[in-house]
Amino acid sequence: MRRTHSYAAMTKDAVQRRRWTFYEVVKDAEKKGGTVRVGIGFDIHRLGEGNTVILGGVTIPFNKGLIGHSDADVLLHAICDAMLGAAGEGDIGVHFPDTDPAYKGISSIELMRRTNGIIKDKGYRVSNIDSVVVAEAPKIFPYRDAMIKNIAAALEIDVYMVHVKATTSEGIGVIGRGEGISAHAVCLLTNVSDH
Ligand SMILES: [Zn+2]
Repeated sequence: MRRTHSYAAMTKDAVQRRRWTFYEVVKDAEKKGGTVRVGIGFDIHRLGEGNTVILGGVTIPFNKGLIGHSDADVLLHAICDAMLGAAGEGDIGVHFPDTDPAYKGISSIELMRRTNGIIKDKGYRVSNIDSVVVAEAPKIFPYRDAMIKNIAAALEIDVYMVHVKATTSEGIGVIGRGEGISAHAVCLLTNVSDH
């Protein structure tokens, strides 16, 4: 009987040995009969009244707040959409509609945990996530590591599989005028067959 070899264990082992590159991890998954799928996500929320914004599950003091049905965590929404897209599962609007009072004010970390459940039920694991927050303000960098830790914890993956970048819009357009914050994300999923 062939030994069960979970993707999580494999990547953990790879990190510990510092030998496998990400490319090799993906090639190994393919060799075992798994599939590799990529997804893209984009989200934007308007800035309005408030004194904090929540990004990547981190509450950041600011002179405005992000407006939305949930906690308006634009970064986590973009990442969830990328995960769902990669799994062929639509987007967060389909799974957690903003017309449903059950999701009013819900933590987007919780939405991310549920999204992870959806992709896991289909046999997928997050292989890596890359993302960009586009905001004129506040400064994202001081909070970046905390965001990465939150995302990795919600998805039960290693922090090295998650990346968060930030940029401004150089004063151009709606983001540049400080009217909102947007985020882009890509996600790679791997489906590893155990037999
Ligand atoms: Zn959103």
